[in-house]
Amino acid sequence: PHGIQDVLRQLGVQADNAAYSTGRTWGGADNTDRRVINAPADGRRMASVAFATLADYEIVVKAAEEAFKTWRLVPAPKRGEIVRQIGNKLREFKEPLGKLVSAEMGKILQEGLGEVQEMIDICDFAVGLSRQLHGFTMHSERPAHRMYDQYQPLGLVGIISAFNFPVAVWSWNAMLAAVCGDVSIWKPSEKTPLTAVAVQHIIRDVLAENEIPEGVFSVIIGDAAIGAAMAADKRLPLISATGSTRMGRKVGEVVGARLGRALLELGGNNAIIVTKNADLNIAIRAIVFGAVGTAGQRCTSTRRVIIEESVFEEVKSRLLATYPKLPIGHPLKEGTLVGPLIDADAVKMFETALVNVQAEGGKLLAGGEVLNRPELAGGHYVTPALVEVENHYHTVQEETFAPILYLIKYSGEVQHAIDLQNDVRQGLSSSIFTLNMREAEAFLAASGSDCGIANVNIGTSGAEIGGAFGGEKETGGGRESGSDAWKVYMRRQTNTINYSTELPLAQGIKFDV
Ligand code: NAD
Repeated sequence: PHGIQDVLRQLGVQADNAAYSTGRTWGGADNTDRRVINAPADGRRMASVAFATLADYEIVVKAAEEAFKTWRLVPAPKRGEIVRQIGNKLREFKEPLGKLVSAEMGKILQEGLGEVQEMIDICDFAVGLSRQLHGFTMHSERPAHRMYDQYQPLGLVGIISAFNFPVAVWSWNAMLAAVCGDVSIWKPSEKTPLTAVAVQHIIRDVLAENEIPEGVFSVIIGDAAIGAAMAADKRLPLISATGSTRMGRKVGEVVGARLGRALLELGGNNAIIVTKNADLNIAIRAIVFGAVGTAGQRCTSTRRVIIEESVFEEVKSRLLATYPKLPIGHPLKEGTLVGPLIDADAVKMFETALVNVQAEGGKLLAGGEVLNRPELAGGHYVTPALVEVENHYHTVQEETFAPILYLIKYSGEVQHAIDLQNDVRQGLSSSIFTLNMREAEAFLAASGSDCGIANVNIGTSGAEIGGAFGGEKETGGGRESGSDAWKVYMRRQTNTINYSTELPLAQGIKFDV
């Protein structure tokens, strides 16, 4: 159905896929740990893939170490040229890859295509960056001395990604790493390995045509065990890990213990504040898209709406009018806005959160059912839930990776709403809807939102690649994608050059020998 087998063939994904690739060649096909990947939309078998062993991992790291020795010497704009060609290949394969993202992850086709577009955009960004990677120059206090900063390639970058953005997160990391002169080893989520296999097939021709050594772009299919090996591995100076806070805490501890660098992109608990000065037409659209888009499985999904009491009833009734009409269904079917959850465990977590929040006093206003309609058989579908709550409830303080939207009332000054929005452990995305300049600026002030992303009159979900992406507190503190996020992929060096006949010491020290 929906031509998925054709798409798999077109992308080089076979019925049985190998466990790792160091570029053009694949290995580990004979591994005994072979797992079947079923579509979240209907439970049908898509393909199977071999999972890598620790011996496979060694092969991949060895190839990456070898490749780094030459890749770091390729001029950055030439590395950018390879990324430009990768971007073009992704343009060519946007349609089938977007479709596969949709089929394997369960997001609707438009979002699958959007994810591939994001990959293309970050390629363009990285190409431009490859002619920049600027450091500063400074004036030395000593005569006939020159001082400057330079950024050098760091080494092997381990990329551990989550199921919900199965391919974009790789590109945010790998494309920047590549222009920075690093080589990358990607361990995709064990729930979405097929899209990773497909991406490797897509870039393979670029690697072959340009005779890129094996090991510049590697992929290794595995679960947490391979991720844990990467975290502990001193040969990988940077680990970029995207996923739950639970995972990030473990990875952060292990990488920290060896004094490596960890770029952590973890869970969010994102809120939209709606003040009495909001344009409710755009606010409602933003809330609904943020809460039910990707079936609530974005790190930036809107989990809480904090609404001023005088507009609370209106916002609530407009949401109540919209929710029952949401088109829920197969993600590849035209017109669907809400697809399935990733698996049965995700459905269970959705149900448990709803039971718990009601036990704490939450009022379920709409949705919250598990759908068993015959045409949705085999899939993991739920109806997005609206619950009236208080911010301090234990369940509200947690990220439940499913479409549950908590409505919270505030009264008085906007600062009360800001304090509620900050009163969670996560700090990824936030936004305010208001046409009042003072409220908007209060939200963006030092006493305003404490999140990595703070928007005005735009929802929490969906960011442009040009900005730095990431969040504070339990979201992990990492930044990737645009702005100067590239700096984490490089080592920084301060250079002082003396072209005089003297050796003046700094700090005015006299030391005559
Ligand atoms: P997850 O934590 O279950 O898995 C993420 C990745 O970590 C997988 O590749 C997994 O194999 C690996 N992993 C798990 N335990 C590990 C360990 N001990 N050591 C090394 N690797 C380990 O997350 P998920 O269910 O795939 O994704 C959903 C979560 O990801 C949500 O919390 C979401 O908010 C978060 N997320 C965050 C961002 C962001 O940029 N902040 C983006 C996407 C998703």
